[in-house]
Amino acid sequence: MEPIDSDNYARIHSVESMGTVDGPGIRYVLFFQGCALHCKYCHNRDTWDMFGGAITNVDDVVNKIMRYKNFIIPSGGGVTVSGGEPLLQVRFLITLFKRLKEHGINTAIDTSRNV
Ligand code: SF4
Repeated sequence: MEPIDSDNYARIHSVESMGTVDGPGIRYVLFFQGCALHCKYCHNRDTWDMFGGAITNVDDVVNKIMRYKNFIIPSGGGVTVSGGEPLLQVRFLITLFKRLKEHGINTAIDTSRNV
């Protein structure tokens, strides 16, 4: 089995529905599975495994986020993707962010990449 790089599916480690420390306002935080850096100070080591996490469909992710829209938007918040390294599953990320923009949801990326 290979790490996923798909438009519609991603390996997701976990979610936090009411995050307050990963960007402005109340944020829905998606922790992506997989990271190759293995930093000594990492506090999310269980996200390192490229083959772990739950294979998740973008429709399911968007539908779950929409349940929190009435909290997220008035707070000035949005959705933050973290990990793990979310840019390892960038095709899914592009699909997800396009869908969230259609709903007027602010997005942020927590990444180790110099982008
Ligand atoms: S880049 Fe982030 S998730 Fe990856 S090992 Fe380093 S601290 Fe952990």
